[in-house]
Amino acid sequence: MRPEVLNPLFAESDTLDGVGPKLKKPLEKLGLTRLRDFLYHLPDRFVTRRSVEKLDDAGEGEQIIIALTPTEHRSPRNPGRGPYRVLAQDEAGDICALTFFGRASFTAKKQLPVGEKRWVAGRLDRYGDMRQIVHPDHIEAEGAAHLGRLCEPVYRLSEGLTQPRISGLVEQALKRVPELTEWIEPSQRDSANWPDWKDALHLAHKGENTAARDRLAYDELLANALALLLVRADNRARRGQPLQGDGSLRGKLDLPFPLTGAQTRSVQEIEGDLAQDAPMLRLLQGDVGAGKTVVALMAMLIANEAGKQAALLAPTEILARQHYETLRTMAGPTGVEIALLTGRDKGKARESILMGLLDGSIDIVVGTHAIFQDTVAYKDLGLVVIDEQHRFGVAQRLQLASKGRATPHTLAMTATPIPRTLTLAQYGEMDVSRLDEMPPGRQAIDTRVVAQERVADVVEGVARHVGSGQQTYWVCPMVRDNETDDIAAAEARYASLKERFGDDVVLVHGQLKPDEKDRAMHRFASGEAKLLVATTVIEVGVDVPAATLMVIEQAERFGLAQLHQLRGRVGRGSEKSVCLLLRGAQLSETGRKRLALMRETQDGFLIAEEDLALRGGGELLGTRQSGDEAFKIADLEQITRLLPTAHADARLLMERDGGLLTPRGEAARVLLYLFERDWGVQLLRGG
Ligand code: ADP
Ligand code: MG
Repeated sequence: MRPEVLNPLFAESDTLDGVGPKLKKPLEKLGLTRLRDFLYHLPDRFVTRRSVEKLDDAGEGEQIIIALTPTEHRSPRNPGRGPYRVLAQDEAGDICALTFFGRASFTAKKQLPVGEKRWVAGRLDRYGDMRQIVHPDHIEAEGAAHLGRLCEPVYRLSEGLTQPRISGLVEQALKRVPELTEWIEPSQRDSANWPDWKDALHLAHKGENTAARDRLAYDELLANALALLLVRADNRARRGQPLQGDGSLRGKLDLPFPLTGAQTRSVQEIEGDLAQDAPMLRLLQGDVGAGKTVVALMAMLIANEAGKQAALLAPTEILARQHYETLRTMAGPTGVEIALLTGRDKGKARESILMGLLDGSIDIVVGTHAIFQDTVAYKDLGLVVIDEQHRFGVAQRLQLASKGRATPHTLAMTATPIPRTLTLAQYGEMDVSRLDEMPPGRQAIDTRVVAQERVADVVEGVARHVGSGQQTYWVCPMVRDNETDDIAAAEARYASLKERFGDDVVLVHGQLKPDEKDRAMHRFASGEAKLLVATTVIEVGVDVPAATLMVIEQAERFGLAQLHQLRGRVGRGSEKSVCLLLRGAQLSETGRKRLALMRETQDGFLIAEEDLALRGGGELLGTRQSGDEAFKIADLEQITRLLPTAHADARLLMERDGGLLTPRGEAARVLLYLFERDWGVQLLRGG
């Protein structure tokens, strides 16, 4: 149960004055539904205004406060089109237009009567040969003292909201902030010179204040670290079932290659975990092509040798199918029974798989989340392997944990090479095995950066490539805000390539029906289609060794980790592979460096570390790229700088007070609820 002291912070937005049904929508769009959300809606930046007497004293583009007297109202010639203008003069008689678009003109009519002096705050611009202020931030009759602040926060907005509106709501929310007991280690807080929580909130909304912002970011990181450690502690305390494999099944494997050192080490680490009483919670981190699948198979065979079932959970149907095929081929000589179960299996086929899972005749099941629905029961599930861990939240993981009689062991796999600090932030509750060594014989992928204007040449290149019997991926840009636009772009590209390549080209994107998508993927994977046009749905896991050319349009729009994963789709066979990164005309300095880095190296872990260094502060956490917003307040720079301390602090607290029962422990519980990491608290017995 949420501590009572937090109740005011979780009051709905409509408990704020002025929030009704109409405002709720735009607020929701910004994620502002409860009071706490307003408090943590921190300003993007601040404007500093200067109070001036005359227009002549101000520069163009400057934020000013000035007294003006309206002289004339000008409605647009064409009602409903063009702006509404109020001409107003300063003390010296110089004229400035106050310009309003749309509904704002109603306000203007009321607030700016001709002949009456008003104090106006806004940005001075020029329109033709006239000075103007578009949508002044404030208009007041009472004089400069009442006119906003000289330093004002600028908030992220959504359609239907204005700065004063948001500021007003944030101010109301700030008035209702309760006093909370400090949860940060006192020595830590003192040495960083941080304000207490309540002050930090006020300060962060009032002006640039690094200490306040850091403190709030730290709170978020601490909450996260603590929650992950609680998951870990809970896991340790659970009854698992130690699994000892005798090697009988693994011994029958007839792999066409020896394992790499990193693979062997990872299998040993897993084997060691499986033999423990506590359930395993391990992350297998390895670049695309590093050979995670065979490691997963080894783990599952150990479970089978110990008489238990294993399940492999894939993020998409395509991947589930591919894993199924791969595992069946690899595990063929062992004779274990492997089944595929997806949401699309219906009727008899589904029934017989469900029976097999229940009576234990199926040893390994591969599938999408369908394998963990309530209707699916296992005879004795010993191990769960989750491919592409980042797609599954902690909640789902906990749900999985409840599937077996004892808690099954969990092996999570990810191909997203993230820097070590971020690994800690995202997977701090797990032990990590890293596949940091590629299987031998991998060819370097020849990566080139090409201007987008040369797309016609690129198409010619693709034609030659396809003509020689090889296959090509063509990835269309992803604009994060609007999936429909992405798909339109992909469809347009598909249409134009279809003119040239006819039935040789197929299209895959996120809005296709599953069977359409499968059909297209299948035609490509089987080699029948030569060219696959796609949005980033091909990002993860798909394996088509005959595809040796990858074209990525507007490559600068992708995150580096994502580019790296996409590129990893080629270079899987013995043929030499090429990756063409098409860049748009407007490329920032950082953008240029990032693409250059892609050209220079193929080491995913290195790319991840460099990406972090290149982007530095400001930009948001790289994990956004994978659709996973772990942190809303801490930015990338703060994460890098503050996370290690937050983790150390959390660990110390857990060592001293694992049940969170001391006063500081109690405060930490409040923190967990505040940041909605209460799944952490719920794991505490009696919590
Ligand atoms: P990922 O880590 O991306 O899931 P996969 O498991 O799909 O990688 O492996 C990529 C390719 O490398 C597969 O074709 C696989 O058979 C091959 N492979 C895996 N391990 C080795 C190895 N030790 N030596 C040679 N090839 C390997
Ligand atoms: Mg894989």
